[in-house]
Amino acid sequence: MTTQNAVFIYSSEFEKYSYPPEHPFNTVRATRVREIVSSMGMLSGIGKTEVAPKSAERIVLKKFHTARYLHALKAAAGGHLDVEALQMNIGSQDCPVFKGLYEYSALAAGGTLTEAKMILSGQADIAFNPSGGYHHAGPELAAGFCYINDVALACVVLAEQKKRVLYLDVDVHHGDGVANKFYDRSDVLTISLHQNPKTLFPGTGFENEIGTGEGKGCCVNVPLPVGTYDQAYLKAFETIVLPLVKAYNPDVIVFELGADALAGDPLGNLRLTNNVYAEIINHLMSFDKPIVATGGGGYHVENTVRAWALAWSVFCGDDYGDDMSHAMGGVFLESTEWQAGLRDRELPVTEQQKNAVVPAIETVIKKIKKSIFPIHGI
Ligand SMILES: [Zn+2]
Repeated sequence: MTTQNAVFIYSSEFEKYSYPPEHPFNTVRATRVREIVSSMGMLSGIGKTEVAPKSAERIVLKKFHTARYLHALKAAAGGHLDVEALQMNIGSQDCPVFKGLYEYSALAAGGTLTEAKMILSGQADIAFNPSGGYHHAGPELAAGFCYINDVALACVVLAEQKKRVLYLDVDVHHGDGVANKFYDRSDVLTISLHQNPKTLFPGTGFENEIGTGEGKGCCVNVPLPVGTYDQAYLKAFETIVLPLVKAYNPDVIVFELGADALAGDPLGNLRLTNNVYAEIINHLMSFDKPIVATGGGGYHVENTVRAWALAWSVFCGDDYGDDMSHAMGGVFLESTEWQAGLRDRELPVTEQQKNAVVPAIETVIKKIKKSIFPIHGI
């Protein structure tokens, strides 16, 4: 697909806010991605624009969250943390209260909702909000560093306009908040590839969680063993995700691109390089459907920033494969790893590593093919 209109979502307003310094979630990642893609000339020119979002309005947030939760979140951000808020996990270790918490979350959600709006109006074909991707938040629950579920909201808004939505989540953690929302619906197909929940938060996302009622077969979970590397991951993606996308034939794709499945992430235990994300995006773009993309997890800041900058280069048609050197003029290379461009070096895989990963992935593929594929006529 030749990209017509790729929109990068960013506002300097985001720079006003940050999680507490000891918290693993670093909002500076979006700012750094923006700096890099800007210095590489990837925010201007034909078919590329940058758009500053407005905060999501409360009435829109209520399409997913309860009034009670939004009230507690705002009150907590204003210094009034009560038992009710704590019961909704606001003010916990994972979801602490910080200055501007409500404003930040509403602005991040506004970014992803702006993407959905621009896609619905035809102003954008692909949009990327590196400040989005809060897939764990529930209607009345802060969870896993997430307060307002921007990706679920985008799916709701798109589905309201009678769009068939594919939600694809490649964050290392199960995209539970989104999967739960649409568990009994067939108008939003959720697919999440993540580390086996036996070994990682949130402890859900097993292959037998396939949706219910109308939504049976429209919730797809691909749990992956610790140590999953590029080729093994791509095999699962190509064998499961590609046929499902083809069969489901969505009108729009919502793509949560958490980068915590990269090797070296302090919270995840997979071994991907960012080349996998480039490959996945190329696959998604080949379907020629509009894409609402967001960031998500990613706790090795340098690696996450490089992965998202690479993702944007693919979205806007500026990826030159392994050789980005001619596009690197003006980029300040802080890390020697960056001298080869945005792409990670390939990681060698030993026989032992293969033996630890391949059988588990083959078992998962077999189970999903058996339980989900027939529902979609595959
Ligand atoms: Zn994550």
